[in-house]
Amino acid sequence: MDRSNVIDGKAFAARLRETVARQVAALKAGHGLTPGLAVVLVGEDPASQVYVRNKGKATVEAGLNSFEHKLPAETDQETLLALVRQLNDDPAVHGILVQLPLPDHVSEAAVLDAIDPDKDVDGFHVVNAGRLATGGQALVPCTPRGCLMMLKDRLGELKGLRALVLGRSNIVGKPMAQLLLGEHCTVTIAHSRTKDLAGECRRADILIAAVGRPRMVPGDWIAPGATVIDVGINRIPDDRPGAPEGKMRLVGDVDFESAAKVAGAITPVPGGVGPMTIACLLANTVTAACQQAGIEEPAG
Ligand code: NDP
Repeated sequence: MDRSNVIDGKAFAARLRETVARQVAALKAGHGLTPGLAVVLVGEDPASQVYVRNKGKATVEAGLNSFEHKLPAETDQETLLALVRQLNDDPAVHGILVQLPLPDHVSEAAVLDAIDPDKDVDGFHVVNAGRLATGGQALVPCTPRGCLMMLKDRLGELKGLRALVLGRSNIVGKPMAQLLLGEHCTVTIAHSRTKDLAGECRRADILIAAVGRPRMVPGDWIAPGATVIDVGINRIPDDRPGAPEGKMRLVGDVDFESAAKVAGAITPVPGGVGPMTIACLLANTVTAACQQAGIEEPAG
């Protein structure tokens, strides 16, 4: 199969991390400013530990300061809120990320609300959601920001294109739709109650799938030449010939094999959107540091 239409998210993310590293070097040399990212982890969830370790490593590699706060699972909400307030007040910290999920006895909403919106590099705070919706200067959730970068890299101008966002979550679907609207796309948001999902998909020049259902979108839902960004990460049994018994593998929300035959461009899973998320976290931290210091973001 010709793979020239497959978007290499790993290579794209590596380039973005290099850009961030150059921006950080310019900020240090020109302004004596080293952007700092604080990551807070509560408990011992193995997946969260891996994410936090990878984030810390990428942060240091790009030349930013990394502050890790690991708290035991039994940490009470007041202690966590006190830490967030301390990080809000710390001038060396420009971005704060509280790794989710939090233990059941802690209100995620209360903790996320306590983060200074200007340091909210996850872009989940209601103030940033509001700024994005009203065209203000927002910190944008990392995954949609990464998707938009890949789309613009591939397509250049997005103005006037028909975009279908499949999924309406606060962390992916809604901000993605807002970003595409900001690029002057004609945006449709589809969800579990949408009638004629296949028809909606077939009308789209750009299809973003953020559903969490393995291979739900088949190739015949995709308009020939459309650009497909698959955000989904689904773990399924590996039933490919030769795969060892019990092995699992990752697939997206799009059936890659059939979709890649019709799409103009498509992101694979794994190796598409996923690697962009940490790179965008670093980019958001640079953005936040520049905004806090009142200086223009270096081009990199
Ligand atoms: P949510 O579960 O929060 O949202 C899923 C959305 O899909 C909902 O809006 C839901 O509709 C819609 N949906 C569910 N089933 C159907 C269906 N049968 N037909 C149409 N729409 C449907 O998921 P997230 O947005 O958090 O994540 C989506 C996927 O992206 C997941 O696989 C997740 O793992 C992945 N992800 C990947 C990231 C990355 O770094 N690559 C980062 C974040 C997420 P309704 O609102 O009506 O219920």
